[in-house]
Amino acid sequence: MRKEEWKSGDEGSGQCQHCKTMVKTRYEHRTVRMGGTQVDVPDVLVAVCTVCDHTMKIPRQSFAQLRETGGK
Ligand SMILES: [Zn+2]
Repeated sequence: MRKEEWKSGDEGSGQCQHCKTMVKTRYEHRTVRMGGTQVDVPDVLVAVCTVCDHTMKIPRQSFAQLRETGGK
């Protein structure tokens, strides 16, 4: 039952670092700031907490997109 490919509008659940509890997540496209850089990558599929709107995680399938755009 492992899902490999997420798409916008999909729902899931996970531990929100901000809420410090299990929450429902929603997948949507957002602009993501690469960690430790000044690079903003537009239209990256991420999982967002439905409670606090915090970007909780970036699915593996989006990593390639981040690497292409940033990496410098
Ligand atoms: Zn949250």
